[in-house]
Amino acid sequence: LPIRGQVGTFPIDHIRPRHRRGVTTLDNLAFACPRCNAAKWKRHRGTDPDTGRRVPLFNPRTDLWREHLAWSTDEIGRIEARTACGRATAEQLQMNAPDLVATRRLLSQLGLFDELLHSSSDA
Ligand SMILES: [Zn+2]
Repeated sequence: LPIRGQVGTFPIDHIRPRHRRGVTTLDNLAFACPRCNAAKWKRHRGTDPDTGRRVPLFNPRTDLWREHLAWSTDEIGRIEARTACGRATAEQLQMNAPDLVATRRLLSQLGLFDELLHSSSDA
């Protein structure tokens, strides 16, 4: 979800968690919405639900969103995974929880979620 439209502020997440020897440098830090931050917790790897393999979670500093994930053209607000990394991240962060999809759809209808407004041309 975009920071706009959320009640809580975005905490700074260690992409590679400190307990996994992640350092506090800019290239290892990212804003995360509170829900994603809680779902990610101290993980930097997840399980690809299609293969059962452990793979790195999406790294917003080094990975391209459009390479691993996409906005669904079938269901506004839903995220589709394109790779094992995308699938593991979407699963671990519960990106398509029904309340999140509904919130994205509502934000889109209100004109408050630009990414979704332009999703059909980017797909
Ligand atoms: Zn989030």
